[in-house]
Amino acid sequence: MCDHNALHALFGGTFDPIHYGHLRPVEAMAAMAGLQKVTLLPNNVPPHRPQPEATPAQRADMIGLAIADNPLFDLDLREMQRDTPSYTIDTLAAVRAERGARQPLAFIIGQDSLLNLHKWHRWQDILSLCHLLVCQRPGYSSAMETAELQSWLSSHQTDSPDELRHVPAGRVFMAPTPLVAISATEIRARRHRGESDADLLPPSVSAYIDREGLYRNPERHDILRR
Ligand code: ATP
Repeated sequence: MCDHNALHALFGGTFDPIHYGHLRPVEAMAAMAGLQKVTLLPNNVPPHRPQPEATPAQRADMIGLAIADNPLFDLDLREMQRDTPSYTIDTLAAVRAERGARQPLAFIIGQDSLLNLHKWHRWQDILSLCHLLVCQRPGYSSAMETAELQSWLSSHQTDSPDELRHVPAGRVFMAPTPLVAISATEIRARRHRGESDADLLPPSVSAYIDREGLYRNPERHDILRR
């Protein structure tokens, strides 16, 4: 039987590669918001955007390794396996249809993504399908939000994890998750320079990057930065 008060969250990203800046704040968010499960949702990068250096299969492999011993997480490859990039709102609508109207559902983003939320397709409709849970990220703060975003947030914000479980969607929960100054860009740059990334991501993922020879081409880094 479906537990209508269990709170599940989705966490989307490129994960090129997955790192502790994804895992640690989301683990803390799970504890603070009372999440039973977090489903990682690697995306399909649109052709006009710089492509990930790792293939979709490699990005999925790295996520699998990173979450292997952690029952909080699972992996959903639906966006990655589509031929075309998908809008988050469409994925959320599909998940909502599968889980029914009453099941509480959340989508997790970092503070940097929140600042760009207004660029997402039908961004204001996202809360009709799920709650939005926002993790802190170093270098990004609420002070950087536009007045429009601040007013939208304040009309939906809650500080109550209980509320997230008792209504299926519609709330924004901003939690004081630990600040983890790690990005996938930094990991790729370190690898391009031949430096270690040991403190930035799980050892199993770092070993996979070694084995697969990923993120070795410094020219690739220059191309992406131009
Ligand atoms: P890149 O450096 O390649 O742009 P990234 O490290 O920002 O990648 P993404 O896969 O683009 O990682 O991010 C997916 C989600 O994770 C986004 O919502 C982003 O805000 C969040 N996120 C990534 N890194 C952090 C971090 N260090 N702290 C908090 N949130 C993060």
